[in-house]
Amino acid sequence: MPAAPAAAPTFAPRTRATLEQLASSGQLKLLQMIEGPMDATVRLRGSGTVACFCSNNYLGLANHHEVVEAGIEGLRRYGAGTASVRFICGTFECHERLEKRLAHFTGLPAAYTFTSCWNANEAVFPTLGEPGDLILSDELNHASIIDGIRLAVSIKKGLLRGVYRHGDLDDLRAKLAAARSNPEVTGTIWVVTDGVFSMEGDIADLPAIRGLCDEFGAMLVVDDSHGTGVMGRTGRGTHEHWSMPATRIDCLTSTLGKALGGAAGGYVAGSREMIELLVQRGRPTLFSNAVPATVACSAEKAIAILEREPERVARLRANVAAARTGIVEAGFSVLDSPTAICPIIVHDTAKAIAMSKRLLELGVFVIGFGHPVVPEGHARLRVQISAAHGREHIDALIGGLRTLRREFPA
Ligand SMILES: *Cc1c(COP(=O)(O)O)cnc(C)c1O
Repeated sequence: MPAAPAAAPTFAPRTRATLEQLASSGQLKLLQMIEGPMDATVRLRGSGTVACFCSNNYLGLANHHEVVEAGIEGLRRYGAGTASVRFICGTFECHERLEKRLAHFTGLPAAYTFTSCWNANEAVFPTLGEPGDLILSDELNHASIIDGIRLAVSIKKGLLRGVYRHGDLDDLRAKLAAARSNPEVTGTIWVVTDGVFSMEGDIADLPAIRGLCDEFGAMLVVDDSHGTGVMGRTGRGTHEHWSMPATRIDCLTSTLGKALGGAAGGYVAGSREMIELLVQRGRPTLFSNAVPATVACSAEKAIAILEREPERVARLRANVAAARTGIVEAGFSVLDSPTAICPIIVHDTAKAIAMSKRLLELGVFVIGFGHPVVPEGHARLRVQISAAHGREHIDALIGGLRTLRREFPA
C-alpha cells in the first residue's frame, strides 16, 4: 500500500467533526424530498400531499401548463443545452427574446440573463466596480450581494465597501456624507439594497433611498428577487409598489427562480452601456454556460402570463391579506409588511423546529428558521403565500396554527 499523501489525513476528520458539531447543535438540515411538481400542494416523501407554504412560487407559475409546455417546446426546438458560453456559440434566439421581454417588463433599456441571480450579483459588482468606488450595502442584504461585493473588493484593489444598518436612512445618510469627505473615495458611490428582504418580509424605502442617492450623487442597485411578480399592482416589483419609475433604479437584479416560473436563472437590467459592459467583461458570462433553452422559454412564457393576467397579483394580495388576518386570529403575531412573506416570530429555535414538524403532521408545510440563519431569539416560522393557494389551503394553514397555539402556549 502506498503511503497516504501528507495533507489528506486532515481533511476527512475535520469534515466529520464539522458535521457532528452541526448535528449535536441541532443545525443539521434534512432535505425534504418532493415527488411531484411545485404547486399549492406538494407530494412530500413520507408525508403525502401537504399544503405548501414555503416555496417562492408566488404566482403559481412553476407548474402552469403553458409554462411547462413552453419549456418542452424549447427543448424540442433548441435541444438540451447550449454547450457553450454566450460569447462563443451559446447565444440562442430564445435568450434574445427573453432579454427583450425582461427589459420591456422591467421598464429599463436592456437586460441580460445569468444562470442564477446569485451569478448575476457575482457579475455586477466585480465587473462594474472600480478602485476608488465605495459600495454601501444594507446589513440584511442577500448572501449573493454580500459575496458579490466581497469578490469585487478582492479583485479590484482599492474598491471600498461599507454596511449600513438595516433600513436605517439616518445611518445611510451619515455613511454617504462620510464617503463624500473621504479622499480615498474618488470614483462612484453605490447604494445596494434588496427590494424585499427575505427573512423579515419587509421592503426597502426606495423613494427615500433614491433621494439620498441623488443628494450625494450615488448609484442605486436593487435586487428585487422576492419583489418581482409580487410587488406593485402589476407585479413589476418594489419600485411599482412605491409608484417609482424603474428608470430611477440604475441597476436592477432579480431572479427567474421565484415568481417568474421558479426554474432557475437571473438577470440584470439597466442602461444599454451597463449591460454591454457585463456582456464584454462579466466573468460569469465569459466563462460559464448560458441559461438552458427550456428555462429561457418557460421564463418568457411566465412573464407573458403575468403581463396578460395581472389578476394573479391581485389574488396573491388577497391571499396574503386573508392569511395575515387568520394568523393573528389564531393567536400569533406576524411581522407587518405588504409582501408575500409572513414571518411568525416564535423566538426559540427548538420551538420553531418542533412547530414546523407538528404542522407537517397536520398537512401544512412551513419551514422553521432559527439561529444561525436569523439572530438568536428571533426564530420564526416563515409562511410564504402564493396566488396558487385556494381558500382551502389558507384554511388548512390557519387550522394548523390554531392547533399549534393550543399545543405550544405563548
Ligand atoms: C433568492 C435570492 C437570490 C438568489 O436567486 P437565484 O436565482 O436562486 O440565485 C438573490 N438575491 C435575492 C435578494 C434573493 O432573494
